[in-house]
Amino acid sequence: MYDLIIVGAGPAGLTASIYASRYKINHLLFGVEPGGQGNLAPMVENFPGYLSIAGLDLMQTIIEQVKSYGVEIRQEKVIGLGKIGKGFGVITDKGKYQAKTLILAMGAAFRRLGIPGEEAFLGKGVSYCATCDAPLFRNKTVAMVGGGDCALTEALHLTAFAQKVYLIHRRSEFRAEQAWIEKVEQEPKIEKILNNQIKEIRGKEIVEEAVLEKPYKGKTLLPIDGVFIEVGHVPSSALVKPLGIETDKDGYVKITPAMKTNIPGVFAAGDLVAMIGRPLIRQLITSAADGARATSAIYEYLHKTGPAPSWGK
Ligand code: NAP
Repeated sequence: MYDLIIVGAGPAGLTASIYASRYKINHLLFGVEPGGQGNLAPMVENFPGYLSIAGLDLMQTIIEQVKSYGVEIRQEKVIGLGKIGKGFGVITDKGKYQAKTLILAMGAAFRRLGIPGEEAFLGKGVSYCATCDAPLFRNKTVAMVGGGDCALTEALHLTAFAQKVYLIHRRSEFRAEQAWIEKVEQEPKIEKILNNQIKEIRGKEIVEEAVLEKPYKGKTLLPIDGVFIEVGHVPSSALVKPLGIETDKDGYVKITPAMKTNIPGVFAAGDLVAMIGRPLIRQLITSAADGARATSAIYEYLHKTGPAPSWGK
């Protein structure tokens, strides 16, 4: 029986583990891809302490910090969560574990557009990760769909490889930070197509063209070699339902300011959560802060509920 199991090794879960190590809370940390979505950010320019750093490098540094306390990140897929006595059971693809408390930090997954060709050309020109796939589009023409921070930062990243990047957004205004909007405006390789959407992706073996909802420069067919999709995320909350954890209408886990879910002993953090009244901002720094708060709340909870934590390994 561990004092704590952390599910998810993105910025929230990793930070929760660093704090747990420092509180000497005996814990396990599960994450199939340590670093999570933080690994995919091409440039991070708003994490205090770094003027500009690749997401992968930042996450590697945090992972090293986790490991420096002797914690092994278990790259096991968590497939079930349940209540066992006063604690909780965690089932992974490799084993079964028990803990007195849980921190859920499973983050969120890419939202799909749900248009014809999106699934069929995945890996054949359709991608959800410019950081991973941009080098495959050297001197090619690509489209980036979306108007948030991810779409703009990834469009800028693509310009280092592609010859042209169409930035296609369904409205006339971007919701991304002004700093990114200004960089996009100054980038000659980026051509904006606003108030428009892709309604189909076509090709033979690989992507060859996108069908636009409305004509652009008189045409609805846009010849392209690739389509990058960055239209937000959906919470990875499928595991929480059997445990009776409340979510909001969009599937985000509801938490209190003390990071508690509705189930005593279960706390949640990062992109997975939503809190009424809290500004909606999902960033590396806010996920990391959530992880710190969740572990601090667990420390208090373990003290109050007893028996005393086992302190250390
Ligand atoms: P986001 O901020 O939710 O933006 C999603 C974008 O996709 C919006 O522009 C939205 O359009 C568009 N969209 C949604 N559904 C669509 C559909 N079906 N068809 C076409 N367009 C659609 O998501 P994100 O850009 O992935 O960012 C996620 C979080 O990470 C945000 O909190 C963001 O601030 C943060 N982030 C921050 C940075 C940074 O450098 N500060 C970098 C990356 C990510 P509308 O605008 O019309 O709704």
